[in-house]
Amino acid sequence: MAKVNSMETYILNKQSVARHVKKARIGTYILGEFDRANRFIRRYVGRSTTRLHERLNRHVTNNEWPAFQFHYWETPEEVFQMECLLFHHNRDTIANKRHPDAPRGLNYKCPYCVDSREKPLTKSTLNEMAKQQGLN
Ligand SMILES: [Zn+2]
Repeated sequence: MAKVNSMETYILNKQSVARHVKKARIGTYILGEFDRANRFIRRYVGRSTTRLHERLNRHVTNNEWPAFQFHYWETPEEVFQMECLLFHHNRDTIANKRHPDAPRGLNYKCPYCVDSREKPLTKSTLNEMAKQQGLN
């Protein structure tokens, strides 16, 4: 059975990362800020295929965005694919300009790019795919 990730939003600081993000897990994350209506606006999409909590702590140190969301995944390939999905799905608001690279030494291809498909994905299809993964 597919596990459904929850979409909690946490304040980005050391205490919060220590409290909510397990050690020795891999996954994707989203950094962002709140608008005037207190809605979370996604500004940056990233991943760690080694230690998610350490990667997030580096963002704490850089003091970039006030809040984060994250998801655990089981394999580096899954992490890469979900990062790609997040990248394509949130392109309108994120500051990431460059498409995610495959993890070093691994020849993974983005399943959401035009060149790996006959037709580009529409916004609503991407939204549906993100929803299925608990990422929208
Ligand atoms: Zn892509």
